Amino acid sequence: MIIAEDKYGNRVNSIQQPSLMDSYFCPACKASLIFKNGLVYTPHFAHRTLKDCHAWSENESAQHLSLKLQLFEWFHQSEKVELEKYLPELEQTPDLLVNDRIAIEIQCSSLSLKRLKERTENYQAYGFKVIWLMGKDLWIQKGMTTLQKNLMGFSENRGFYFWELDEKNQKLRLKSLIHEDLAHHTMYLTDVFEFQKGNLLSLLRLPFEKQKCPVLEIPEQDGKSQFDFIQRQLYHCAPSWLKKQALFYENQKHLLDLDFSKKYVAPAGLDLLCFPFQKVEQKFIQLHHKDTIRYYQEYYRYFQTHHQSFLYPPYFYHTQ
Ligand SMILES: [Zn+2]
Repeated sequence: MIIAEDKYGNRVNSIQQPSLMDSYFCPACKASLIFKNGLVYTPHFAHRTLKDCHAWSENESAQHLSLKLQLFEWFHQSEKVELEKYLPELEQTPDLLVNDRIAIEIQCSSLSLKRLKERTENYQAYGFKVIWLMGKDLWIQKGMTTLQKNLMGFSENRGFYFWELDEKNQKLRLKSLIHEDLAHHTMYLTDVFEFQKGNLLSLLRLPFEKQKCPVLEIPEQDGKSQFDFIQRQLYHCAPSWLKKQALFYENQKHLLDLDFSKKYVAPAGLDLLCFPFQKVEQKFIQLHHKDTIRYYQEYYRYFQTHHQSFLYPPYFYHTQ
């Protein structure tokens, strides 16, 4: 952490070389803190033990501290921004608080879905908007974890989207129109922005701004590879595929009779094969269930009647 309190309750910033003679305390739990000034890490404060602190659940990585300071400077060019402002009614400390209402959370390591849900709902209950920006360990790779899906945002213009912070290359990335194929490999559009260039708050609003309709081309794939993939999953008794197969049987259908001239690509979290037979229970934490369901329904309707080569944002499917 970068902000501590001195014994008079004044905010002290670790970057401004606090006196080593003084004592410093956690603004949330009031425990006394250690000041650390190393070669690798940004100077910072740390709890001796985190077990009694309700506002901090982990000591931060060098990446987290450094990103926090860089985004603070970036926001500071145009907005009111506060570093580690403790919000006593929520018992939470967002990494940055922008214009008193927007909580910026820089997530660099894993956290439980339970904790993510609590933190998100707590912000919303008190009228804060929360934006999650992900460090290296949480970038989208070939597929997405459940945690990553629960960190996605949604807009009519960009569908499911996800923010990544690349400290090494000093880039902010927006991945949007996130879709998955049958093997849960992801495809998406990527927009890249250089740190400290442009208005950061405007960039973060990009998914909600009126824009030219973004389009994503589905990679070429022959039908046989989808057939072979499903056959292999069934042969190896992959549990999720056995479940799908059972559902198909109940409905007098067979997975291998699907039309493999179609490309089975769908918005993240939509199981195209089982969608007609079962209710979607999936609730992603950052998203409104009704937006997601509408998107899935309209996408599915379009999918049934088209041989797709391109993917579009949700609003496109409203009008089809
Ligand atoms: Zn504390």
